[in-house]
Amino acid sequence: MTGNIELLKEQVKSLAREQGFQWAGIATANEPPHFEGYLRWLAKGYAGEMTYLQRSLALRQDPRQLMPSAKSILVVGLNYAQPAGVEQQWEASDARFSIYALNDDYHDLIREKLKRVLSDLQTQVPDCEGRVCVDSAPLMERDFAWQAGLGWFGKNTCLINSRFGSYFFIGALLLNLDFPPDSPAEGGCGSCRRCIDACPTGAIKLAEEGDHYELDARRCISYLSIELKEEIPKPLREGMGNWVYGCDVCQDVCPFNQPKPRQHERAKPTSEPQLLPRDSLTQDADNLLERLLQMSPNDFRAMFKGSPVKRTRWRGLVRNACVAAGNSQNPRYLPFLRCLQQDPDSLISEHAQWAIQRIEQANTPLERMENP
Ligand code: SF4
Ligand code: SF4
Repeated sequence: MTGNIELLKEQVKSLAREQGFQWAGIATANEPPHFEGYLRWLAKGYAGEMTYLQRSLALRQDPRQLMPSAKSILVVGLNYAQPAGVEQQWEASDARFSIYALNDDYHDLIREKLKRVLSDLQTQVPDCEGRVCVDSAPLMERDFAWQAGLGWFGKNTCLINSRFGSYFFIGALLLNLDFPPDSPAEGGCGSCRRCIDACPTGAIKLAEEGDHYELDARRCISYLSIELKEEIPKPLREGMGNWVYGCDVCQDVCPFNQPKPRQHERAKPTSEPQLLPRDSLTQDADNLLERLLQMSPNDFRAMFKGSPVKRTRWRGLVRNACVAAGNSQNPRYLPFLRCLQQDPDSLISEHAQWAIQRIEQANTPLERMENP
C-alpha cells in the first residue's frame, strides 16, 4: 500500500506539471505550520483594513473545515516572470502595474488547471474527492507551499524558490487521499538585505521577536494601491512613485530573481500567453497615465475586463493615477488633474489637488519661491 500511495503521489504531481505548473508538492491538511505567527501578525494591526483576514480564523487554522475529508494538499506554483523587455518598459512608464496584473486574472487560469488535475486524477481514483482553492477560500496557501517544498520565506516575506526566484502564483487542491508530505523547502537570505533597503515605504520590518522579518501591510504599496479603499496617507504617497497597481520592488531587487548566465532557470519568462501584457496596456504606453486620468468608469470596465486590476474599481485606480501624476512632477498632467479636482467624489478631488500642488511646487521657479 505504501508503495502504491507513493506512486500515486508522484502521478498527481506529474498531472499538475502536465497542466503547465512548474512546481508541485504535497502538504498535510493539518494546522498550517506558521498559524501562531499569523495570529501575532494580525494582533500587531499590520493587516490594516483587510478585516477579512480576521474573519474565518477557524477555517484558516484547519483546512478540514473547508473539506471535512481532506487529508493532503497538492500545492502548485505557476511562473509569471516576464521577458526582460517587458519589465524595462514598465520601469520607464509613468504608470506602472505589478507584472502579475498585466493581463488576465490568474485565479481563473489556475482554478481551471487544478480542476483538470482533479478530473484526471478521478479517472484513476474514482472515489477521490477534491476542492480547488486559489485565494477563494480562507486557506494559508503560502504556508502549505513552504511545507510542500515549493520555496522558503525571504526577508521580503515572499516565498522564494532557490532555483527559480519568487515570481510564481500559488494554488492548492485539497484531496481526501492520504499522501506522505514532501519536505519543507530549505534556503535563506543570508546577510542580504536588498529588499529592506529598496522598499520605498519602509514596509519590511524586523519582528519584535527578533528572529524574522515581517510586512507592515499598512505601509506596503500593494496594500495602499489595491486593498485600501479610502485616502492614501499623505506621508506615504511620495514613496508610491509611479506604481498605480501593486509593487514589485522587493522582488525586482532580489538576487534570486536575477537571471544568471549559467542558471537559465532563474526567473525564466512565463510561457502562458494569458499572463503576458495585454495590448490595451502596452500600446501607446507613453500615454498610459494620461489615459488613466481621463478614463470614465465605462472605459475602466472595458480596459480591465477579466483583469485583476478590477479589484481597485475605477475610483481606486484613478486615485492611484493622481498620486503617480503628482510624483512624476510633469506639468503635462495638470489639465487632467484640474478636471479631476472638480470630481464630486472627495477621494478623487483631494488626491488630484495633492498632485497639482506637488507638480506646481516642483515647477515653481526658484526666484518666485524666494520672492513670492
Ligand atoms: S511590495 Fe513594494 S512597498 Fe511592499 S514591501 Fe515590497 S517593496 Fe515594499
Ligand atoms: S532581496 Fe535579499 S534579503 Fe530580500 S528576500 Fe531576496 S535574498 Fe532575501
